[in-house]
Amino acid sequence: MTEYEVVIGLEIHVQLWTESKMFCGCSTRFGAPPNTQTCPTCLGLPGALPVINRKAVELGLRTALALHCTVHPRSQFHRKNYYYPDLPKNYQISQYQYLDHPPLATDGYLEIEVEGTLRRVGIRRVHLEEDTGRLVHPEGEDYSLVDYNRSGVPLMEIVTYPDLRSPQEARAFLLKLRQILQYAEVSSGRMEEGTLRCDANVSLRRPGEPLGTRTEVKNMNSIRAVERALQYEIGRQRALLQRGEAVVQETRHWDERSGVTFASRTKEEAEDYRYFPEPDLVPLEITPAWIERVRAGLPELPDARRDRLMRVYGFGRYEAELLVSTRFQADFFEEAVRLYPSPRAIANWLVGDVAGYLNERNLELEDLPITPLHLAELVRLIEEGVISGRIAKDILPEVLGTGKRPSEVVRERGLLQISDEEALREVVRAVLAEHPEPVQDFRKGKERAIGFLVGQVMKRTGGRANPALVNRLLREELERLPA
Ligand SMILES: [Zn+2]
Repeated sequence: MTEYEVVIGLEIHVQLWTESKMFCGCSTRFGAPPNTQTCPTCLGLPGALPVINRKAVELGLRTALALHCTVHPRSQFHRKNYYYPDLPKNYQISQYQYLDHPPLATDGYLEIEVEGTLRRVGIRRVHLEEDTGRLVHPEGEDYSLVDYNRSGVPLMEIVTYPDLRSPQEARAFLLKLRQILQYAEVSSGRMEEGTLRCDANVSLRRPGEPLGTRTEVKNMNSIRAVERALQYEIGRQRALLQRGEAVVQETRHWDERSGVTFASRTKEEAEDYRYFPEPDLVPLEITPAWIERVRAGLPELPDARRDRLMRVYGFGRYEAELLVSTRFQADFFEEAVRLYPSPRAIANWLVGDVAGYLNERNLELEDLPITPLHLAELVRLIEEGVISGRIAKDILPEVLGTGKRPSEVVRERGLLQISDEEALREVVRAVLAEHPEPVQDFRKGKERAIGFLVGQVMKRTGGRANPALVNRLLREELERLPA
């Protein structure tokens, strides 16, 4: 039996990084008391008029250019009409491909790499719209409350072509998109805070056949959830098709706790929204000069930065990719290298022990109380022989946890490396006397035995011995021993 081919398209809503809302001057600050950031415009009161937020348009343009889209010189806002209590106007101002009015930008792409294969995912469109309010359902009460602080917050919608072929590709796409949005300072991209929301269209087909019936999966609150939900939904559709049953076109919600998708409501057709041009807004005119200004203001994007790190520092692709995973980390790395030019060691600590510390605690580098100076100093202390690598590993959690300088922790804990030759020679002699077997092994030509002996010396000195010196002294003393 031929396997089914998976077809996935994504719709991503991105909350734009602006101080004020899409069509009024109200604040977009997260977490304010309900309904304290509203005005007649975002409450949809009669007579209030919208004004387009220039910063939001700029951020939309940044995204469009970063995704290689065609920006349309003239785009139109539309009213998307529907009734829902979180929508005070009974319509949402959005952009829609309608008659001859294009949205802000169309037809771009994003390149992802999955298991060593480079894939180009088409971007159908990038458009701007406003967010809705938020319904709150107090536990155990028979009423709902509505908070309009979010009403009118600038959103950007990014829609892909159905070019993705697996949940892993969807995950890689979202990671890359989030990375670009963060680099371009378009959005914080934090899915947990709702600044990045993703819906997915999924269908299956036999290779070469037309697209199968799709379902739309919603309510996924993390990139991991998107991957899991898609895996579940693909399995569900495959089982239906194998039993000869039909997939129903519908919207399905992902339930994180039970790990399943369930049908919620039937899919609205575009006609239901009765789109028409927003009469209170003039078309959005974007001049070539504006586009060029935005293009010139874009930072170095992740792929370009990765390639530069490979070129300048001689890193492998994988290592460079890890270093540029966030702009914060890439900046952190380059600043540390500027302070102490030992790029390889700094990179190793950053993507090794520091990343391990962050993973264990589910933290981001920006959450730590340290600066690039801390890392530069740690590497300097090791390379100048003040502390051993072992000691550096030992003090790292305290440095990362408290923001104390490594030199301060070393001083406080009395961890200066022992480089006193006579003191170390005593220890080396004692270790050799206590371990005749490895000594014999070494004499029989087993070079590895010396590693054990070095380890014993390090143990006796609490890891403070200078390893290079220990190595030399061990060899000297082994030579001196009577045959
Ligand atoms: Zn307002």
